[in-house]
Amino acid sequence: MAESTVQHSTDKLLELKEKQKIIDENPFCNLKINDTRELKLVESRRKCDLCQKSRKFFCYTCYQPVLSCRYYPRVKLPIKIDIIKHPREIPGKSTAIHAAIIAPADVKIYIYPDFPEIPNKEETVLVFPSKDNAKNISVKDLFVRKEGKNDALGEKTETVWPIKRAIFIDSTWHQTKSIYKDQRLRELRCVILKSRISQFWRHQKDSPRWYLATIESIHQFLVELHTCALGVDEDYGETIKKYLDLNDIIKNTCYTDSTHQYSVINGEELMQRYNGQYDNLLYFFKYMFEHIHSIYNHNELKAYKRPLI
Ligand SMILES: [Zn+2]
Repeated sequence: MAESTVQHSTDKLLELKEKQKIIDENPFCNLKINDTRELKLVESRRKCDLCQKSRKFFCYTCYQPVLSCRYYPRVKLPIKIDIIKHPREIPGKSTAIHAAIIAPADVKIYIYPDFPEIPNKEETVLVFPSKDNAKNISVKDLFVRKEGKNDALGEKTETVWPIKRAIFIDSTWHQTKSIYKDQRLRELRCVILKSRISQFWRHQKDSPRWYLATIESIHQFLVELHTCALGVDEDYGETIKKYLDLNDIIKNTCYTDSTHQYSVINGEELMQRYNGQYDNLLYFFKYMFEHIHSIYNHNELKAYKRPLI
């Protein structure tokens, strides 16, 4: 390797470490997430209506809230999200449930080998990197029209969203492969996300800090999709650059893998430029992040010592 290239990558790593330090100091400050302080007041646990087990905010085996809806926001999504969970993934440790609680109308969780129906492969993507790099596309690529396709059908399909459904795999770094190999996922286009540093407190051996928690990946995907479709609000643009898109530093590294709590975004808001419409998906994630950080020192948590590259 030429010396200048080595120097260049060292500079990039230093720049990245510097950015990471700034983001880590207050990772959610630029996102529009409701105030989580009320959750701190919830002390008693309740019984889940379905399985009768004692839970705090939600039941992670039944995917049901046990908490009154006034304590957490709800979000409407522009497409359907299906999450396939590895059967050995520990339910209490997964963040997939956050999406199912906050966007109940649009998110469904399946325990593998249970599988979502895929009625139209053209309108569905798998948010996961294919081993075959040629098959990987970015969210932006979804907006490239196939020439003449609609004309040939003699119909105009002028919709804002190029897909109707996205599938995510919820498992650890090591478990993903068995689900990914499933024949039913083979024909789907694989989408890779822009680089973003995970704030997940759960340490996973050998995974880099680009390996996002499931709820972070879903949020990242929707932000990219919305931004490509409708643009980004001027005031919000800086947040995207600083926090949600670090691709200018690292090119396609690896995806890898309010006070008034009740807030629902409506159809009109959904069609505005991106200004944080899906940020509340990270509501429970932010709360738990803060809770963990109130107990442990950030610099001592193994998860944040994972390599950046
Ligand atoms: Zn339950």
